[in-house]
Amino acid sequence: MASITLNSIVKKYDDGFPAVNNVSLDIADGEFVILVGPSGCGKSTLLRMIVGLEDITSGELLIDGQRMNEAAPKDRNLAMVFQNYALYPHLTVYENIAFPLRLAKEKNGNGQSNGNGEGSVDDRVQKAAAMLELTEHLDRKPANLSGGQRQRVAMGRAIVREADAFLFDEPLSNLDAKLRGQMRSEIARLQRRLGITSVYVTHDQTEAMTLGDRVAVLKKGLLQQVASPRELYEQPVNLFVAGFIGSPSMNFLPATLKEGSQGAGGTGGAGGAILSSPIGDIPISAEKAAVAQGRELVMIGLRPEYFEDASLVDEAKMARGSVFTAELSHLEWLGHEQYGYIEFEPDERVGRLLSDLASEMDADELRPQVVTTLSAESRVRPGEPAELWVDASRIHIFDPETGENLTRDPEAGAELTRIAAQEREHEIELAAASARSPQNTQNTQDSRSV
Ligand code: ATP
Repeated sequence: MASITLNSIVKKYDDGFPAVNNVSLDIADGEFVILVGPSGCGKSTLLRMIVGLEDITSGELLIDGQRMNEAAPKDRNLAMVFQNYALYPHLTVYENIAFPLRLAKEKNGNGQSNGNGEGSVDDRVQKAAAMLELTEHLDRKPANLSGGQRQRVAMGRAIVREADAFLFDEPLSNLDAKLRGQMRSEIARLQRRLGITSVYVTHDQTEAMTLGDRVAVLKKGLLQQVASPRELYEQPVNLFVAGFIGSPSMNFLPATLKEGSQGAGGTGGAGGAILSSPIGDIPISAEKAAVAQGRELVMIGLRPEYFEDASLVDEAKMARGSVFTAELSHLEWLGHEQYGYIEFEPDERVGRLLSDLASEMDADELRPQVVTTLSAESRVRPGEPAELWVDASRIHIFDPETGENLTRDPEAGAELTRIAAQEREHEIELAAASARSPQNTQNTQDSRSV
């Protein structure tokens, strides 16, 4: 296992375009880091530079403190797990897993030089198979396995090589939604159990949020923010990260500080102010009002779950926010909750800002609408006035031109990432304890579903 350090890494292809632009990132030994961003943001290029399939134009790559820019891929001792698993259909599971060891033997002249005799090949395959719960499938061919089992064979091949790190390039993007969900937890569980440094590329923010100890968000080759999923979600640095992380996405609305409203007593303390927005007036705290002061326009960010049917909000919560009346254009009932949509008319400038943001995020057009998550028991109806409540204490305020989150609290954010790191250590300890317990191994096998 190893740490991976990227120092000011730049990749320019022949046309001079910086596909990766000055990226610095420290990946700790045993850490699971996700590279996420829309298509073309440079995440695959970055991964390929780490593994050695792409030259680094400038900057430095260190693996366990050693400069590796010039090292051949085989000398970096990293294992890549691809989207299509790259299994050999005519070979059994056993032979697929043994393949890299046999290849190394051939290259090194009959297995002498790296100490891999047949005994040690069998030993390593059996060990990996046991770890991956594949022992009973060793004689089968890949075509007869489930998607999840195939994925484990691909990981087995990486494990027998005793690689220092796993590099995943969108390994789940070919799978249907259900299997993707199962495989996500499978990969998370294995990574914890093996404690192996892992870098995982995806454009899927759900994978990023559920798998990563930390997530690096890229946009057009530039690193936007590296943090725990919770910090990204609660303390995003800018409009791009705020909009990219979370599903449904954060709602963005233009707003202006209502003249003379200071001292109106918004949430979170005395002397707040009022923000005027397309969904009505929102009282905010003095602290938040201060960042909007002197600005002609700000963009406010409200996540769907900051809203609720006002009739279902208890008194204690009510004081944190404000009630407004809106007409829902439509409602989607999902069983455990419902999404209510409120449409609004943006002016030209705001319409342009939303459309630029949507194209940066590689998203469909960002519609001038607010998505609200309402309790399943709410009886509000589309086309009728509905009394809704919004938790104004959690509002984000962004600079509409630079996109900067003016209300971000870096200390609170760092604390979230620190807690995530502690939780990770705890999970690794639990996984190690569980691996030592035969009772637990049996239980895991019994409950396996893929
Ligand atoms: P995707 O999710 O679509 O795979 P990505 O984030 O992995 O996207 P990269 O494949 O790393 O993005 O590409 C980053 C940028 O570099 C893109 O603008 C792409 O067009 C460019 N690029 C990638 N490979 C080459 C190449 N061989 N020659 C020139 N430009 C390239």
